[in-house]
Amino acid sequence: MTGDPNCIFCKILRGEIPSVKIHEDEETLAFMDVMPQSPGHCLVIPKNHAANIFEVSTDDAAILIRATHRLAQAVNTALKPDGVGLYQFNGSAAGQTVFHIHFHVIPRYKDVELVMHARDMVDKSVLQPFAEKIKAALR
Ligand code: AMP
Ligand code: ZN
Repeated sequence: MTGDPNCIFCKILRGEIPSVKIHEDEETLAFMDVMPQSPGHCLVIPKNHAANIFEVSTDDAAILIRATHRLAQAVNTALKPDGVGLYQFNGSAAGQTVFHIHFHVIPRYKDVELVMHARDMVDKSVLQPFAEKIKAALR
């Protein structure tokens, strides 16, 4: 078994819990956030488990930012939002709720506030069309 047995994102990586995937390679996974703060909200993680920016290796940090850069561009192309926010939290005091390092890629629209962080879960059928559009823009 790879990763941390109790980590929800490691469980996604092992296929033990479902996710709506956008892109997977040897080192990273991009998938839809199940409690989107804005339509099209997605996440990118390194496959190696590290809780946060203080634990992640320099190599995995570089791998993660490369994947985030690529995903942000695809979100921008696919959804044409007014802006794209990249967010990354370290420690519960900073707002982190899943302790496997990740970047949020969040489409932003002029004068539209974000939905509360990690609150309302949405159905796979809502997330899938966004994943398809973003996937197409990655090609
Ligand atoms: P953070 O608070 O930065 O640790 O963000 C964790 C994010 O993971 C939140 O936006 C949650 O909505 C999201 N999340 C939690 N569980 C899942 C899951 N099973 N699949 C997809 N996203 C998830
Ligand atoms: Zn993990």
